[in-house]
Amino acid sequence: MTVGDLAAHLRITPADVQRELMKLGILANLNAEVSVENATKVAQARGFKVISGNGAAAPTAAPAGAAGLARPKKARASGPVPRPPVVVIMGHVDHGKTTLLDVIRNTHVTDHEFGGITQHIGAYQVEVPAGDEKDGKRQTKRITFLDTPGHEAFTAMRARGAQGADIAIIVVAADDGVMPQTIEAINHAKAANVRIIVAVNKVDKPDANVQRVLEEMAAQGIVPKAWGGDHDFVEVSALERLGIDELLEYILFEAEVAELTADPNLPAEGTIIEARLDPGKGPVATVLVDSGTLFVGDAVVAGTGSGKIRAMMDDRGRQVQRAGPSMPVELLGLSSTPLAGDRLQVIENERLARQMVQERELRSREAKMKASGRGVTLEALYRQIREGEVKDLNIIVKADVQGSVEAVRQSIERLQNEEVRVNVLHAAVGNVGESDILLASASQAVVLAFNVKVDGQAKRAAADEGVEIKSYKIIYDLIEDVQAALEGMLKPVYREVVLGHATVRATFKLPRGGVVAGCYVNDGKVVRGAQARVKRGKQLVHTGEVDSLKHIKEDVREMAAGFECGILMDDFNDFQEGDVIEVFQTEQVSRR
Ligand code: GDP
Repeated sequence: MTVGDLAAHLRITPADVQRELMKLGILANLNAEVSVENATKVAQARGFKVISGNGAAAPTAAPAGAAGLARPKKARASGPVPRPPVVVIMGHVDHGKTTLLDVIRNTHVTDHEFGGITQHIGAYQVEVPAGDEKDGKRQTKRITFLDTPGHEAFTAMRARGAQGADIAIIVVAADDGVMPQTIEAINHAKAANVRIIVAVNKVDKPDANVQRVLEEMAAQGIVPKAWGGDHDFVEVSALERLGIDELLEYILFEAEVAELTADPNLPAEGTIIEARLDPGKGPVATVLVDSGTLFVGDAVVAGTGSGKIRAMMDDRGRQVQRAGPSMPVELLGLSSTPLAGDRLQVIENERLARQMVQERELRSREAKMKASGRGVTLEALYRQIREGEVKDLNIIVKADVQGSVEAVRQSIERLQNEEVRVNVLHAAVGNVGESDILLASASQAVVLAFNVKVDGQAKRAAADEGVEIKSYKIIYDLIEDVQAALEGMLKPVYREVVLGHATVRATFKLPRGGVVAGCYVNDGKVVRGAQARVKRGKQLVHTGEVDSLKHIKEDVREMAAGFECGILMDDFNDFQEGDVIEVFQTEQVSRR
């Protein structure tokens, strides 16, 4: 292999490889071939244990302490390949989310084949038959399920910057229909831009009414494909295990449409989906690999913790040496317990990982000290928009009665114009709750509360996440505030204001070049730094800036009407007696 190849395998820089080779008395450039013998020495010098491969293959290096582990033959990017979809199950309480998750897991995880016992690590993978047999072998595809039902956990992850999932299954009980939390789930899923599949559950019940669910979901903008919409609806009974295979097929279909891919041959990156401090084992975290492959022995950073992965376990409690894209694994070896939604990254070595964590801690302390935090306030929004960063105003509305929910929604949606979109992500009756705050944080939204209270937990979450909750008793005040924020979003409109006029009475050449116009201020005032145009009769001779302004010999900031002054303009030296200098400035016009 070449110096570059070896560096990639060992995850050190080519310069490090060159340095090690130098110690062996070898001067090698990046593309120079390294003999098996020398590559072995370099790897060993870097703390790797080398296990000889078979035949002509290069020796495979493995980190010390991970005997028998083979790193991939190619450590370089190989390009993206399909990865399993990550699915979250949401819906109203008691509509059957947990039952559905259990049933999927129990029918598709064959414990006895492996002798493993189901472990709750925050996510699990199932293998689903897919397509026809090939070479006498059954074809299967994998699906990863997040094991925590509900949109709260999902949105909390998003609030920390994680993608969360690719597909959301929204469970609606056919005997109960669309309920407040169903709507919440829909809005959280929409805000996350994930694909939505609807599982109409409890169809075994005598009072099940599937038609009503379809209609109520369509009213929420989730229109069945059969009706010309975009969404698959699957009738299931989690209790009687009906329609489960069909649901899984729909998931695989959606995943195919979404073309989910990842490159398994890169150092891994992932998302922490669950973490706890185990009294015996220390920090234990479940990570879902987003891209690349994670190995035991990898140095990693996750949240404000770092470390070297000591061991990994899959969702059946089996020790594993590696985890590829979309695979959930529980890992040991972190120095501190991360939070759900934190990113996990493989770093070249432990020392560098520790350094990164220190920098992160510093940055997070700094961020906390900044009053605005990560969240959004109407005022901050105004600033951001003035800087041209934001062109969407995301809003969550909570109000006392359905009538006011609609009134608020309609009046603020009416405020949008062709430059700024107003997105009401969620509008519902009731107090402001924690999940509203998480949604706001995840989607950079503002929470508007109309005649409702803010729950204690929501208050705490809002403080943590830096989300602003604006409470109103009068709808007009609310509209006015939103309008003000929107105005910030509009590209500012400028208008010209004439400050005054001066007539050139004489011109003076300066010894060092440049010509000063000796003027009389006719009206208004002349201001240093203001813009000015020089007019000769009807003709515009020059437009520029008042560079310097003098009264007798003194520098002055401005000169009022009736006084004489000397004006010097930026590189304009052609003043003539009788020229009129019009001084003006541009100011921003309020759109209101
Ligand atoms: P969750 O709150 O959404 O997680 O709902 P659960 O999974 O805890 O289910 C709530 C109740 O509904 C439990 O008593 C379940 O046994 C029941 N249930 C769930 N799925 C079905 C179903 O398909 N048919 C019937 N008849 N009951 C169900």
